[in-house]
Formats: sequence, structure tokens, C-alpha cells
Amino acid sequence: MTTTQPGPVLVVMAMRAESAPIIEQLGLSAVESPASWPSIEWFVSDDADLVIARNGVDPTHGVDAIGTGPAIITTLLSIDRWTPAWVVSAGTAGGFRARGGHIGQVILADGPVIHHDRRIALPAFEALGRGGHPTADLRSLATELGFTSGPCSTGDSLDAPPLDVEAMAAHGTLAKDMEAAAVAGVAARKGIAFTACKVITDIVDGDFATADEFRANLAAASAALADAVPRLVAALPR
Ligand code: SAH
Repeated sequence: MTTTQPGPVLVVMAMRAESAPIIEQLGLSAVESPASWPSIEWFVSDDADLVIARNGVDPTHGVDAIGTGPAIITTLLSIDRWTPAWVVSAGTAGGFRARGGHIGQVILADGPVIHHDRRIALPAFEALGRGGHPTADLRSLATELGFTSGPCSTGDSLDAPPLDVEAMAAHGTLAKDMEAAAVAGVAARKGIAFTACKVITDIVDGDFATADEFRANLAAASAALADAVPRLVAALPR
């Protein structure tokens, strides 16, 4: 899929810690949040060519609003506000040792993004649950940038129970996150080119508890994102 309209690159991110280094490094400015969903935060470059949209803090629970629900709301309101040329889901993800994954690896989405945890055993609804939203073919760009191209998939849990593991193995998932498929679904409905860029913080089939490994590697991964995302944004076909 190629770009269908002029406009900025919209990068949708979930966590404050993930996005702080890139916002700081690029000197992006905070602009007013949408009145209908004030927890969303927008950070814009001086030339308005790059917008980072952050889900912000959940007002009830006081933590970053991670997961698919907030990602959909943020993406929809951000597309309506900024009319982007590209939508990018950026953040951290779990990787898979069995498929060559390692901490700090940068994955650029290849092929459809699925929801690995949505199972609807009704023939007409199976595909709806799974999603399978398109991503742009950026395989040669990934090679140029030193990133790994591969399938991404999304679920609303940090853990990986057996049915999810099976779905991810069948999909060949290299990056397991909690937002990409949701962001991709909105971009697809709006006809906007989409990709996901994820840095691996934890190994799903590895030796350490996911939450501990995630926390240990979050700062380094966020710094890696601050390096990878601007290089990606500069190289996207416009
Ligand atoms: N803040 C929590 C955990 C964050 S959840 C804590 O400190 O424990 C993880 C976030 O990073 C989500 O936004 C998700 O997109 C991404 N992520 C990183 N590793 C993941 C994994 N193994 N599974 C699912 N999401 C993961």
C-alpha cells in the first residue's frame, strides 16, 4: 500500500516511558489534547511533519492506558485531527527465541497484523476477531535500516497462555504487543498506510518472567526506539 494523501507521520505510542526519550530527543512540543478525550497527549515537530500521539494516563487507574481500547480511540481522534500520510504503531514488544528474537531487536511489521487473543468460533465472525489488517511492504527499507521484518500480533494481556502461543506460532509472530492490530485496524478503515515498529523488551519463550524482563529492559528499549523511529520516519515513502 502506498501513501494516499499528503500529511504528517502519526506515531501512536502507549507508554510515557517508551515515548519520553524520542519526544525529548526530537524536541517535540506538546499541543492541546482533544476535548472529547483529554488524556490523549499530542507532541508535534516544529514543521508539523511528525506527530506523536500518546494514549496518556487512565484517569481511573492512574497508569498508562495500554491495550487495544485506548489505542483505537487515540488513533481515530489523532487521524481526524492531523490527517496523516502514515500511521505508525511504535513501542516495545515481546520477542521469540524460537524465531530468532533477542532483546533490543527492532522489528518492522511485515504482512497482516492479527489479534492473537480474539477467538470467535462462528464462521462469519472468525475473521473479524482475528483482524489481519494490512501493513505497508517495507521489507527493503527494513534491510537498509538494519531492522528485522516480520509478523506482528496483538493481544490485551502481557502473559501468553497456550491458545495465544498457538495463534502466534501459526502467524509466525516476531513481535507480540498490546496495540499494533488495534491501531492498524483504524488506519485500514481510514485508508491510511500503516506500519509497526517495535523494540523487543522481553522474550516470550525465554527464561525470565515477562514483567521482570520487561521492566529491566524498558529504558534501553525506549532509547533504541528514539534512535529507530526517527530513522524510519525519515525513510518512509511520501
Ligand atoms: N507497565 C507495566 C507493563 C506494561 S505492559 C509494568 O511495568 O509491568 C507492556 C507494554 O509494552 C504494552 O503497551 C505492550 O504493547 C508492550 N509489550 C512489551 N512486551 C510485551 C509482551 N511480552 N506482551 C505484550 N505486550 C508487550
